[in-house]
Amino acid sequence: MTDFQPARLSGIARPANVGAMLDEICEHFVEHSDVVYKDGIATLKSEEWTIDIATVNDHLAIEISTDGDEALAATRTMFAEHLFYFAGDEPFSLEWSKPAPKVRPPGFVEATVVAAHDVTPRMRRVTLSLADVSPFIGGNMHVRLLVPPKGRAPVWPNLQENGRIGWPEGEDELVVRVYTIRSVDAEAKQVFIDILQHPAERVATPGADFARDTVPGEQVALMGPGGGGLPEAENIFFAGDESALPAIARMVEEAPAGVTMKAIIEVENAAEEQLLQGNGLLEVEWLHRSSYAPDGRPHLVDRVKAALETVGNDTFVWFAAEKADVRTIKRHLADRKRDRKQQYIAWYWEKGQ
Ligand SMILES: Cc1cc2nc3c(=O)[nH]c(=O)nc-3n(C[C@H](O)[C@H](O)[C@H](O)COP(=O)(O)OP(=O)(O)OC[C@H]3O[C@@H](n4cnc5c(N)ncnc54)[C@H](O)[C@@H]3O)c2cc1C
Repeated sequence: MTDFQPARLSGIARPANVGAMLDEICEHFVEHSDVVYKDGIATLKSEEWTIDIATVNDHLAIEISTDGDEALAATRTMFAEHLFYFAGDEPFSLEWSKPAPKVRPPGFVEATVVAAHDVTPRMRRVTLSLADVSPFIGGNMHVRLLVPPKGRAPVWPNLQENGRIGWPEGEDELVVRVYTIRSVDAEAKQVFIDILQHPAERVATPGADFARDTVPGEQVALMGPGGGGLPEAENIFFAGDESALPAIARMVEEAPAGVTMKAIIEVENAAEEQLLQGNGLLEVEWLHRSSYAPDGRPHLVDRVKAALETVGNDTFVWFAAEKADVRTIKRHLADRKRDRKQQYIAWYWEKGQ
């Protein structure tokens, strides 16, 4: 039975610089929640959770409240992962009033590969069978895909006391990559993930290789879903490259009638275009990288900047692509003082990383 009783948890975080970390938390979470920040006290509020953070001498006192224990565990892990990410290489510790139990991370589910095929020459669709696909229908779209080393029995992650995920190491190390659940077949209990076969010179591409080489019966796992879904807006401007294409295609499918959408999508060439279908009104502009001038211009960012000139403030702006391109667009939108609640701007991959 699902427990919808209010649940609370307190924690103490000790970063190297308390003020700097609180600034970073507020700066980051403003795009995911309502943030009220004054005199060293911050409240972050989303539909699923409230997180109060107060500066107390050398530490941050944290209070998480949610509807039920399941959401509390998921929020703790989400927040703990963020805090350690913000701390980077600096000393950092995190303790909770109740340490996290040593169990599988929230949202962890085992899956079996059913099939894999090419949707276009460079986009490969992997079909996974799950015991329960209901968490993946609607709402949040993104998952972490966990692939164990070939020929070894999987060793899956457990939670650490501080709420972070404890990943298997050494010979049991997993390939972990973030993807989008492109669609769900509730009846067949299957989910579909579209994985780009991106050309990378002289470097390994474990996520892409998994999609290329997988065979039916291979055991993998998913963690999620998270990271948001279709924006609640009547007008949406989508833009991105192939890594964003599965998300854009899914949101177009999920958008109800009456929603007006414009999408600018950069792919290698015409063979990589996909049919985007839904009940809303959609205009798609495909950009072909293979047709760019030798200096690579004008490219996605140039085109998106130009298009944004005619995008009104009532339009939700959704952009995902390579990190540097995303930073450029983020700065561009900030210069125009657009409402950050009316945008989702995220980098999906990083050149050379
Ligand atoms: C929220 C989110 C959702 C995502 N959804 C999808 C999705 O549905 N489908 C999908 O294919 N990807 C998606 N991505 C992007 C995907 O996670 C990355 O492309 C990932 O790096 C691929 O892992 P890899 O092992 O193939 O390559 P890596 O080992 O990560 O990288 C190897 C090399 O390839 C380069 N590289 C990585 N990705 C790309 C790319 N897209 N184009 C060109 N070069 C690249 C890197 O710069 C590096 O040099 C998503 C990312 C995020 C954050």
